[in-house]
Amino acid sequence: MYPREFEYLAPSSLDEALEALASHPDAKVMAGGMSLLPLMKMRLLSPATVVDIGSIDGLGSIEDRGDHLAIGALVRHAATAASPLVQQYATALAQAAGLTGDVQVRNRGTTCGALAHADLAADQTAAALALGATLVAKSTSGTREIPASEFFVDTLTSALTPEEILVEVRVPKSGNGEASAYTKLGRRGGESDYAVAGAAAWVRKSNGSVDAARVALTGVGTVAVVAGGVGDALVGSDGSSDAIAAAATHATDGMTVLEDLYGTVAYKSHLAQVYVKRALTAALG
Ligand SMILES: Cc1cc2nc3c(=O)[nH]c(=O)nc-3n(C[C@H](O)[C@H](O)[C@H](O)COP(=O)(O)OP(=O)(O)OC[C@H]3O[C@@H](n4cnc5c(N)ncnc54)[C@H](O)[C@@H]3O)c2cc1C
Repeated sequence: MYPREFEYLAPSSLDEALEALASHPDAKVMAGGMSLLPLMKMRLLSPATVVDIGSIDGLGSIEDRGDHLAIGALVRHAATAASPLVQQYATALAQAAGLTGDVQVRNRGTTCGALAHADLAADQTAAALALGATLVAKSTSGTREIPASEFFVDTLTSALTPEEILVEVRVPKSGNGEASAYTKLGRRGGESDYAVAGAAAWVRKSNGSVDAARVALTGVGTVAVVAGGVGDALVGSDGSSDAIAAAATHATDGMTVLEDLYGTVAYKSHLAQVYVKRALTAALG
């Protein structure tokens, strides 16, 4: 199906794009178009204006800024997955990007677009939460830094306002004793396609015990969330398989598990525990 008619703008600078959003309140930003265009073609979304940010210079790099990596708005999933910097310092995000969709999607879709889209079963949302990322949004009114913990509001709803562009995501670099991992069950049984359930884990170990841990789930509730009970249970433990198994029993504490086409509440709750265990085992391994 064709989308409804819309005005197409392709600004060549960030300022021009921000002006376009400010003056077209019903506009949508387009980055890779991998989620926006299918929604428009199915007529589930019919913006009057599309602001394509794809020709703006300076948004396509991954930078090492000392204590964090900055991933620009036009960095594709494939580039995030293949980046030695992301693989080394933000392993869960590289793994989640590498498990996002298929080759075509990974070559067009962007890491920031996947975060802005806030799909309930997206992969990189969980990694951003577990790694304690910060999302940087710009509008004509200024710049906002939004912690990942406040960014994913609900299904397909982020903390961005319509006139904002997510210009980069900043991910703290894992240092000594810190590690992270992402793992999921995809909708087609393997690891490709959206997550039926997925978990990202970040851990810090010192003197033989876990002194900090953050685990996030995707595909299980209405949006990716931090599984706070898991981190609380793991901190102070030796990070052994018994400690991981005990912590994983808290995977869905305090959250509303969503039944959908891919699983009942009981099945998804079970998967949440299984994938939390796997992500923690990989991170602590
Ligand atoms: C066949 C298929 C399989 C897929 N499988 C998976 C999967 O397994 N896992 C997964 O996580 N995702 C999957 N996706 C979604 C894919 O990851 C999308 O690429 C991603 O969700 C959106 O990134 P994009 O750059 O294409 O954004 P777009 O499609 O251009 O935009 C998506 C939304 O985000 C907004 N947006 C995008 N960039 C910005 C920005 N910089 N600032 C403000 N708003 C912005 C847009 O306005 C729009 O609302 C799949 C998609 C397809 C088509």
